[in-house]
Amino acid sequence: MAGKYVYDFEEGNKDMKYVLGGKGANLAEMTRMGLPVPHGFTVTCEACNAYRAAGRRFPDGMLDEVDEHLRRLEERMGRRLGEPGDPLLVSVRSGAPFSMPGMMDTVLNVGLNDESVEGLTKQTGSERFAWDSYRRLLQMFGKTVMGVDGDRFEAAIDHAKEAKGVRNDVDLDEADLRRLVDQFKRVIADETGRDFPQDPQEQLKLGVQAVFGSWDNKRAIDYRRKNKIDDSLGTAVNVQAMVFGNKGDDSGTGVAFTRNPANGEPAPYGDYLPNAQGEDVVAGIRNTMQLEEMGEVQPRAWEELQGHLHTLERHYKDMCDIEFTVEQGKLWLLQTRVGKRTAFAEWIMAHDMLDEGLIEVDTAVLRLDANRLEELFKKVIAEGDAEAIASGLNASPGAAVGKAVFTADDAEAWAERGEPVILVRRETTPDDYHGMIRSQGILTSAGGTNSHAAVVARGEGIPAVCGADAIRVDRQGKRFTVGGTTIAEGDWVTIDGFTGKVYQGQLELADSPIERARAGDAEARKEKIWRAYERFMLRADEVRRLRVRANADTPSQSANALERGAEGIGLCRTEHMFLGEERVAAVRTMIFADTAEEEHAAYDTLLPLQRDDFVGIFKAMDGKPVTVRLLDPPLHEFLPNQVDLAVAVALGRERGDAEVRVGGDEALPLQEAEAMLAKVNDLHEANPMLGLRGVRLGIVKPGLYAMQVRAIIEAACRVKAEGGHPVVEIMIPLTATREELAQVREELEPVAERIMREQGQELEVLWGTMVELPRTAVVAGEIAEVAEFFSFGTNDLTQTAFGFSRDDIGKFLGLYEERKLVPANPFVTIDVPGVGRLMRIACEEGRASREHLHLGICGEHGGDPDSVRFCHELGLDYVSCSPFRVPTARLAAGQAALGEASSASK
Ligand code: PEP
Ligand code: MG
Repeated sequence: MAGKYVYDFEEGNKDMKYVLGGKGANLAEMTRMGLPVPHGFTVTCEACNAYRAAGRRFPDGMLDEVDEHLRRLEERMGRRLGEPGDPLLVSVRSGAPFSMPGMMDTVLNVGLNDESVEGLTKQTGSERFAWDSYRRLLQMFGKTVMGVDGDRFEAAIDHAKEAKGVRNDVDLDEADLRRLVDQFKRVIADETGRDFPQDPQEQLKLGVQAVFGSWDNKRAIDYRRKNKIDDSLGTAVNVQAMVFGNKGDDSGTGVAFTRNPANGEPAPYGDYLPNAQGEDVVAGIRNTMQLEEMGEVQPRAWEELQGHLHTLERHYKDMCDIEFTVEQGKLWLLQTRVGKRTAFAEWIMAHDMLDEGLIEVDTAVLRLDANRLEELFKKVIAEGDAEAIASGLNASPGAAVGKAVFTADDAEAWAERGEPVILVRRETTPDDYHGMIRSQGILTSAGGTNSHAAVVARGEGIPAVCGADAIRVDRQGKRFTVGGTTIAEGDWVTIDGFTGKVYQGQLELADSPIERARAGDAEARKEKIWRAYERFMLRADEVRRLRVRANADTPSQSANALERGAEGIGLCRTEHMFLGEERVAAVRTMIFADTAEEEHAAYDTLLPLQRDDFVGIFKAMDGKPVTVRLLDPPLHEFLPNQVDLAVAVALGRERGDAEVRVGGDEALPLQEAEAMLAKVNDLHEANPMLGLRGVRLGIVKPGLYAMQVRAIIEAACRVKAEGGHPVVEIMIPLTATREELAQVREELEPVAERIMREQGQELEVLWGTMVELPRTAVVAGEIAEVAEFFSFGTNDLTQTAFGFSRDDIGKFLGLYEERKLVPANPFVTIDVPGVGRLMRIACEEGRASREHLHLGICGEHGGDPDSVRFCHELGLDYVSCSPFRVPTARLAAGQAALGEASSASK
């Protein structure tokens, strides 16, 4: 038997989003709650998937079910679809399980044709209204169902307005609209070779087909990829009786949020547009009024709306957004969902809802998006007396500076070249998505806080100012003007998404309130966002099982990490300590040394420098563990580039120069450059990532590791002698065999002990290794016999498990993600089935061999929330990540623990 493909709104509920899509499930829920929702039905996501799987053919039985539900709808409404004398009109809207705002198709006013337009005139008593509805249908249907270039319709409307000398669509009368309808029909026939279908059933069928098809349009695919939405979910289609917000001044349409989605304030927020249909608000075609101003023009509907907003928020226990229409004074709700919000608003709302008793603290913590936590640290414009050149709506928070560009393609191309850009448009459309996400900020001259630009910007965490209506955007000429000022393509602009102000030039940006509060600013500490931050981070810290360390190489990075709540250093990469003129010179001497004396002389130069570095770090991290990794990269990284050097030598020889200069280095006598080139050629490796690096360096150059251990231990002894509490862990990189680690430890441990004796200090030093190679993971049981801890180097482990070069994967990763060859970038999120499995083996076998083996991760994944959850599940002791990601990791670790507790209690 074929499945059930169509549900009446009465039949569903909010938990059926995978069947009915988010919109359908919530329409059903509102219907059950008794809220005023126009009748309708939903064609399921499953039907969409069956349609796609069958090569764009409706599944058997689906159309019959649609017919049956349509008949029921017609009975309820007392009208038939497209009936000439008194037509029922319906909207046909997409609705996927996860919100994908504006990414798929919608057709309104289905059921209108040359005859029923007259019936609609009779029904409403307004010829103008009926013809305006008809031209809207032709325009939407033509563009989305029949594939006509939408600009052709817009151009015809602009032309009609120009000919009449008016600026707004509402100034076109019935005669103008009739003419436009004729023109639109001609445009459709002309572009497609087919006439607009007059049969209402055919319109409905094609509308459903178009919505199904729009699941696979480019922008929907791009959006899913960016937001990690599964391609196999499909979209539902909602068919709903039309209500009209464009029936005159007692009608209108709007979008309302139960709280402010930009700053979290606990008061209704949104836009209202009198005498308009829903798409006018989202398209930003006309500037809207603020929601509360609706009370002045529609007091009864406004009162009723506030009641429904309250009811919905109590019901969903979260901020909801609502699309509504007022038709001749009667309020209708057309959609609701848990609304998108900025990260800033998310924290404020969770804080307020907890205070209001709407939710529990753990629900509040679980609701925060750890991936977006960094947005709270967004910049603001520094104090100054810059005069704004324009102002608009504060549509998405954060200040941004960039060069003005005027098309999404330019935004993408400029960003690709590394130029920061502000995308300036009259309004944006879903076709601009690819450029919007590459911009530092977005500025539009039209549209409200729920225009496409605003919704996308908030979703992506991009600062935006919308509806700055004093600005005239000249897309063709690639510039905008405001007052007497012209900003051309490439000119600097600054926008402030917190205040809605726009500035000429490159203003200085300053730290966010959270950054200021953390730095001790008393005023910033009074702000609600700081209180919310402290409260929820405290809870995450209380419940998390994972410790969070940072990857830090210097005292200042260590301080930075501590400020963000790091509980130690999980990776101190010592190679950075080998940079700087004096040090590079010593390293080169070590590399070139012909005798043991020369080599040791180089170590003697390096030793005090390294020791001072470690003293600074141990002092900064007093009492907290510091994992110091002995030198990892291949030695040729400390020498000039092979090609540059070869060219410099060849040119020097040809010109007979006494000295040559390579890159930014000091000039070298030609002879020395020749010797260096010989050495570089000697050290050259075909696969340096698999070459003489890591523990292999320690085997080949034992003096090097011995010097490093000496520096570490001397530093720790000194700090201890001064009353400090250094906690030292020495880590050997890239170990593949038990014997490598055993031999290196045998050589190094006596060095450490000797120095402790010399210094008269006792230190408890842990010796461990990184797990960065598949072999290491697989023989972890053996290796754990000689390692007291493991730290997963998931950058190299991912590289070696996949055989993907971590430096070059950019060349094909995009294609791999597009074709779903990998579910996500494996260098960002741990590949659980492969790399994750290796980690699991290493944990299990390592701990089987050494019960108290300490386990951590220090690859980039340590700061990725999904990977942190996996590490929690694996039972690691800690994650280590860049200092800036430490709060993210703390929150994600807390959420992992809470998520586990809540799923265990279910
Ligand atoms: C790793 O490989 O994951 C690691 C932390 O080491 P590095 O990035 O320095 O190679
Ligand atoms: Mg590594």
